Amino acid sequence: MLMSLLRFTGRRLVSQTCPGLKASKKHKFPLEMARPSSNMADFREVFAKAKHIAIITGAGVSAESGVPTFRGAGGFWRKWQAQELATPEAFARNPSRVWEFYHYRREVMLSKHPNPAHIAIAECEKRLSKQGRSVVVITQNIDELHRKAGTKHLLEIHGSLFKTRCTNCGNVAANYKSPICPALAGKGAPDPETQDAAIPVEALPQCEEDGCNGLLRPHVVWFGETLDPDILTAVEKELEICDLCLVVGTSSVVYPAAMFAPQVSARGVPVAEFNMEATPATNRFRFHFPGPCGTTLPPALARHQTEIIS
Ligand SMILES: [Zn+2]
Repeated sequence: MLMSLLRFTGRRLVSQTCPGLKASKKHKFPLEMARPSSNMADFREVFAKAKHIAIITGAGVSAESGVPTFRGAGGFWRKWQAQELATPEAFARNPSRVWEFYHYRREVMLSKHPNPAHIAIAECEKRLSKQGRSVVVITQNIDELHRKAGTKHLLEIHGSLFKTRCTNCGNVAANYKSPICPALAGKGAPDPETQDAAIPVEALPQCEEDGCNGLLRPHVVWFGETLDPDILTAVEKELEICDLCLVVGTSSVVYPAAMFAPQVSARGVPVAEFNMEATPATNRFRFHFPGPCGTTLPPALARHQTEIIS
């Protein structure tokens, strides 16, 4: 299973360049199958019995907290969208500009907070752990709002805005400094007329490991880059034991959930989508709850009457 996932990932390197792209044809399902159920009482029965719940979350969960993604209509930072700046080539060409972009995104997060979907997930994990049941969150979001909400068991497949990686020695470190370095103070304004700060490389964030002084980069997976194999292995292990899978704020047929949800579904494990989007008519994915996940998720994950809390 792991090999198949890695192969799939390898084949889908371009998936990073088009995260909104549909999964390859091979992973699409016949459209003539029955529509998934939106019956919450039925979902709650399944939820009450689940011992290992995997929750895959995407951009929609962050969007409900007002986190900008710099994608799609109106989603610009200066005159660029994320796919133009979040690449190794853009960083090699203009590390100052890319750091301004990430500095801005980090600073924006100071005023953003977990929404009811993040909180419902974290509370569910805490409650179920006392019952010997587990919840894992597998997220493509880099804003750490799940962590802020209190989620403990978290796999960030695209990394984090609040981690850096040294381009010289490879050291990965948590970094919550604001600003991340003096030269970026007051920089990063998103307005199209803002001029590049053109900060020299030596004034950009630098590695503090002994004698390294290498240029740091955001520890996020950029377009065209592969996912961390250790994270993928951890994801794989969780997917093999889960007996309920939720796909929240994204769709199980678009990257990256499309890498994960179909294999869970193929084992006969129920998959439930909570998102705004219409979903292809398929009974592979058993449930679909349309609407903002901040509204649909809290009642879905609330304490079930059968739960015994000591
Ligand atoms: Zn270093």
